[in-house]
Amino acid sequence: MQSEAKPSCEIDSPVQYLKGIGPKRSAVLGRLGIQTARDLLYYFPRDYLDLSRVEKIEDLRRFVNSGQYVTAIGTVRRFDTIGRPPRQRFVLVIGDETATITLIFFQSLRYYQKAFTVGETLAVSGKVTDFRNRLQMVHPSIDRLAAGDDEEADFEGFLHTKGIVPKYSTSEELRAVKLDTKGFRRVIKAALDRYVGQVEEWLPSSILQKDELIPLRNAIRSIHFPESEKALECSRRRLKYDELFSMQLMLALRRQSVKAELPGISFGVESKLARRLVDSLPFKLTKAQVNVTKEIANDMMSLRPMNRLLQGDVGSGKTVVALIAMLIAIDDGYQAAFMAPTEILAEQHYHTLANFLSNVSVNVRLLVSGQQKKLREDILQDIRGGTAGIVVGTHALIQEGVEFAKLGLVVIDEQHRFGVAQRLMLKEKGNAVRGSIVYPDMLVMTATPIPRTLALTLYGDLDVSTITELPAKRRTIKTILKLESQHASVYRFIREVVNEGRQAYVVYPLVEESEKLDLKAATEGYTFLKEQVFPDLRLGLIHGRLRPEEKDSIMDKYKRREIDILVATTVVEVGIDIPNASVMVVEHAERFGLSQLHQLRGRVGRGADQSYCILIAPDWMRRLQRKDVLPASVDDEVDERKKTERRLQAMIDTTDGFKIAEIDMELRGPGDFFGTRQSGLPELQVANLLTDQDLLQLARRDAFDLIERDPHLRLPEHLSLRKHFHERLHGALRLIQAG
Ligand code: ADP
Ligand code: MG
Repeated sequence: MQSEAKPSCEIDSPVQYLKGIGPKRSAVLGRLGIQTARDLLYYFPRDYLDLSRVEKIEDLRRFVNSGQYVTAIGTVRRFDTIGRPPRQRFVLVIGDETATITLIFFQSLRYYQKAFTVGETLAVSGKVTDFRNRLQMVHPSIDRLAAGDDEEADFEGFLHTKGIVPKYSTSEELRAVKLDTKGFRRVIKAALDRYVGQVEEWLPSSILQKDELIPLRNAIRSIHFPESEKALECSRRRLKYDELFSMQLMLALRRQSVKAELPGISFGVESKLARRLVDSLPFKLTKAQVNVTKEIANDMMSLRPMNRLLQGDVGSGKTVVALIAMLIAIDDGYQAAFMAPTEILAEQHYHTLANFLSNVSVNVRLLVSGQQKKLREDILQDIRGGTAGIVVGTHALIQEGVEFAKLGLVVIDEQHRFGVAQRLMLKEKGNAVRGSIVYPDMLVMTATPIPRTLALTLYGDLDVSTITELPAKRRTIKTILKLESQHASVYRFIREVVNEGRQAYVVYPLVEESEKLDLKAATEGYTFLKEQVFPDLRLGLIHGRLRPEEKDSIMDKYKRREIDILVATTVVEVGIDIPNASVMVVEHAERFGLSQLHQLRGRVGRGADQSYCILIAPDWMRRLQRKDVLPASVDDEVDERKKTERRLQAMIDTTDGFKIAEIDMELRGPGDFFGTRQSGLPELQVANLLTDQDLLQLARRDAFDLIERDPHLRLPEHLSLRKHFHERLHGALRLIQAG
């Protein structure tokens, strides 16, 4: 058990003061978020090299054609790129004191040609074959062990005493300051020797015992330098548990604060307005839509404030469901707020809702930034006075000066874009004017659906409704991969489609994190297409920098078919609904995330026609078109390529949003996937929400039990836990205190 807080420890001192790390290295590390020695200890290996069973090269002969993966170590003797395309290949010969072996690569030749130096030591793993009595491996995985003589000695230490050697993620920037995998091994080893003793145990010993978890110090030491496969397994389990438990503890705290909320509103759900809407729809609600509507109506009827997540794939018809909920609120004399992540989307929703409501008299208003002062005043007055029934908007809705007369329901579209804090802020807009504090119901919508069981574990504070089917009569969108060098055929195809009276999108990616650059790619693309490729067609350009009226007018034109090809930045990613658009071309598809690509694809396939999504990727992805095997990795650069390929492959293979979300989560890691930084949830480095579900359930039960027994973490045995939260999980602080 941990006693009172110790004076601040060396382990939290800047990484710069560590042996072997000067200002240069610490600057680079700092950019990666590694600021203290502790951060460095938590920079876990991305993989391991098992050197416990290394064969001498001569002995590899025993494994020829066995299909078994074996590892050998040798120094580079020579290498070259030989042959002509398509049989061009990179050949690398390594040898040890017993024999030599030839390694052959058919891909990434240019990369390999520059990757090695004669004399460096490599560990290679792969399947051995025999070609004219010479040993060879095709596409082995390679690890660089030592570059020069002086460093070899340092490596030997690991090599012979430790069978399992860590590999760390590096980057060009890191390598520039000699923090390649080997460099990391060295500094992390030093940091461990010096500081691991200062790592405090934060879990109560009762949990450690019950769940058979090893002490934190041991876990951190052996995640880096495991003595054995078994030791590695135990430390991974412990560290995974830590991540999952932290996360669940936050959710438990959040759930508790939700429960403690003041009563909500009990709506009468026999809404005439909703009935009128449903009767006037040009389609029948799907069974799934009816089901989720019932779930929502039940929540709204209850006095407990609704906190519900509505998930459904792109195009599953979430908007209508949300609208029904809003009408229920309005029929009872309340207002509804509908918050969207972008202006274009808010505008789109505004028009969609107004359209749906053409036979139902409800006053819908749009509030976005950049509206003229007079108009804005007018809108604000409507909101304050209660004459605005539905207010659609962006972040502008949670700004100062927006006061609702009687806010009954908050709908938030695309949940992962908004943080928990923003959600709370909007809720707190409830009824500011009357001074009564009643919490509005909340419905959060996401088009990135995840399996229900997982959703229940992850959104500790939200109930989950899922629309499980798409409206009938939808045709599957065909997804096609094209290479940069095949642009001509893409343009021909667009032209054909336009000639048939349909429309197309061409989307350019975000170039780095800069809106300006983002804009440049799209603007240049637009000019090029307009002047060089389609001078006879009608093109439009839309991006985030346009004024609301400009965006509006372009979207209107597109809707009225006065524009054939809409060139856009990712602003069209979500929500846009133009049934006549049947082609989505994504330039530089390799730069988009998987969910993003799926969202973009969801912009087409909304009408009865066959729709197409054309992903344009660099020529090195040719292999995907040919469905060849993936190459083994030399290092992270190639790993990144593999991930890119898996993203595009997933797009080609499936249109199912649930599958896409799973693959995306696996590739990006859940932290990134859920935008945990915004959501206030801790990052997951080791744990995997998909594959570690058992441990997740265990951590969840432990966390919820603990908070049930000790809601404010006041028991003495939870002191270190409390301290841990204070120091490392700042987001949680407010929740503990608020409780
Ligand atoms: P989501 O927001 O879930 O991606 P939308 O609400 O934008 O989906 O709906 C996609 C399109 O399908 C819209 O044009 C909408 O009017 C239409 N739609 C919704 N529900 C149905 C239904 N039950 N049958 C046919 N079309 C529907
Ligand atoms: Mg939508």
